[in-house]
Amino acid sequence: MAKIIDGKEIAGQIKAEVKAEVKDLLAHGIMVTLAVIQVGEDPASSVYVRNKKKTCEELGIRSRSYSLPQAASEEELLSLVGELNEDPEVDGILVQLPLPEQINEKAVLEAISPEKDVDGFHPCNVGALSCGEECFVPGTAAGIIELLVRSGIPIDGRECVVVGRSNIVGKPVAQLLLRENGTVTVAHSHTKNLREVTRRADILVAAVGRRRMIDASYIKPGAVVIDVGIHRDEKNKLCGDVDFESAASVASAITPVPGGVGPMTIAMLMRNCVESRRRRL
Ligand code: NDP
Repeated sequence: MAKIIDGKEIAGQIKAEVKAEVKDLLAHGIMVTLAVIQVGEDPASSVYVRNKKKTCEELGIRSRSYSLPQAASEEELLSLVGELNEDPEVDGILVQLPLPEQINEKAVLEAISPEKDVDGFHPCNVGALSCGEECFVPGTAAGIIELLVRSGIPIDGRECVVVGRSNIVGKPVAQLLLRENGTVTVAHSHTKNLREVTRRADILVAAVGRRRMIDASYIKPGAVVIDVGIHRDEKNKLCGDVDFESAASVASAITPVPGGVGPMTIAMLMRNCVESRRRRL
């Protein structure tokens, strides 16, 4: 049976480190601030925003919330982002996605100052990541590397396969694995013979958005499996892109859902907020 990689425990370690840094900054009269903007009242977005605010509170980070109505115009949102860009107190700006259809998501993400782009979605940060320069990295991708490193799983020289090539997970995690000297393959919906590709992996990252798709038949015996997916199953229980029971019977280590990658995303976001202030000091 595979070793369980405990994301809750590792996220707890990171949050404790962030909390200590926030306290240290506070002792010098510096308060770290995250501005969170939500447009409309999408219930899933409201849950994410609430969790971010709660974690800020827990760590001593000030959160400022901005709620715009569902019918808000792109200009209104851009104007708010512009104000927050100029506000010296604000370290991180986060616009909760998805946005209503009258608003161009790309224009908004590009309007956030790259220095305050704690989600790491701005093209400047994306470009810097691919050049191997210092930048903000999306929380989920950065969290996956932390899970591996803090679990003592080597990446250097190993075959890494990422299933999924989204801008928020698949591509950044592939870049980071490459930065750690992994030999990286990115698979997607056009990949032929997916099982043959995934069975080469020493480290397999499933960010495919398909409930329990990756079972033991996709996994080389002894591989490490990182499950990014979040779904509800037929019994309304949380599950991932990986069929946990089946995969755990062949993998050497595996992340559960819930309690694997999920808690890391928010912990890394908080770390980016502190990092933003440290860089600006
Ligand atoms: P996307 O839907 O944006 O991307 C899915 C990717 O998987 C695409 O690149 C797609 O390929 C590929 N894909 C889809 N079907 C197949 C298939 N049958 N075979 C091979 N590749 C396939 O999803 P995200 O990257 O945003 O998210 C992935 C999962 O992670 C979701 O379950 C999401 O809920 C979860 N998630 C979890 C987070 C966390 O904090 N734990 C954070 C973000 C996401 P193509 O590009 O060709 O279409």
